[in-house]
Amino acid sequence: MTAAPPTLVLKRDVREAAAADLPYVIERDQLAVLYQPLVHLPSWSVMEFEALLRWRHPEFGLISPNYFIPAAEESGWIIPLGEWVLRQACEQLRIWQEKFSHLPPLTMNVNLSVRQLADPHLVAKIARVLAETGVPPETLALELTEGSMAPEINAAREVLERVRALGVGLKLDDFGTGYSSLSYLGAMPFDALKIDRSFVDRLLSDPASEAIVEAVIQLAHKLRMKVVAEGIEDEAQLRRLVDLGCDTGQGFLFSRPVPAEIAGQMLVEGTAAQDLRALGSILKACSNSRREPGAEWRPQLLSAASASPALLGESSPIT
Ligand code: C2E
Ligand code: MG
Ligand code: MG
Repeated sequence: MTAAPPTLVLKRDVREAAAADLPYVIERDQLAVLYQPLVHLPSWSVMEFEALLRWRHPEFGLISPNYFIPAAEESGWIIPLGEWVLRQACEQLRIWQEKFSHLPPLTMNVNLSVRQLADPHLVAKIARVLAETGVPPETLALELTEGSMAPEINAAREVLERVRALGVGLKLDDFGTGYSSLSYLGAMPFDALKIDRSFVDRLLSDPASEAIVEAVIQLAHKLRMKVVAEGIEDEAQLRRLVDLGCDTGQGFLFSRPVPAEIAGQMLVEGTAAQDLRALGSILKACSNSRREPGAEWRPQLLSAASASPALLGESSPIT
């Protein structure tokens, strides 16, 4: 019998460890939140972050949520985990809002599992976290993955409407990966959608993907929804998305998810903000004259984000 390659053994072990150790992650203080900036394309500024959960496992190092969110959803541990992330992200947001009170109000996006919608106390919990952290509701947005909602769509709509009534924003995540009908878009109370990374990946090589992205941006705007493009990794993709009228960009081109201290540096005037303005004028010049970008282009746009992978909390092979 041939032995499994070491990486496969490792990944299987991680999943098993994840399932067995999940009940203890909060009390053992093993969870961490990283923050990835979203760049508002008309103003070239960082006005939002997405909170992304990590597990600092003593044996396996930093574990990606893809390994333990499914187990947490299955076992129900997603309910306390989700509440922990929400509180953590709102506390961090409040710190930044106070520190950078001269900037337009910063928004935090937190992922919400569809399983959390079944929690009868969800809306009260969100309201309590907002009240206790002092975060204005309109500066919090919750992201729900498109595909996950289909089976429970009617129940989901009722809860989401109550969440919206608190003043909190709602984004439809990973748009294009599920099998939802378009009527769903108009019927659900989302104010923004995030075009899945797979479309951005193929944007320049596959004309069908480009046509879909263009149509989705137009449709979303007609429905008064904002559009975020996820997974922007190079300048050519960004340029195309700007030309197609995309409102906001997110991806490794700007920054990987980083710890709060590094993310905070992106808000300091004179560092990241200047870089972004420079990019804005380069791109503007490009789309006006249709020429290739100048040599001054720097791939890692946000200087704070060019720190070492270990510092960024992304050193683990388990991603
Ligand atoms: P998501 O909500 O769609 O988050 C975006 C994912 O894409 C993140 O992966 C991020 O690191 C990755 N990403 C961002 N830009 C790029 C890029 O340019 N290239 C590539 N290759 N990847 C990029 P991450 O942090 O591993 O999270 C994976 C998923 O786990 C998230 O996808 C979300 O569905 C889920 N997740 C993360 N945190 C939480 C949480 O607190 N609660 C729940 N329920 N789910 C979470
Ligand atoms: Mg998300
Ligand atoms: Mg997504």
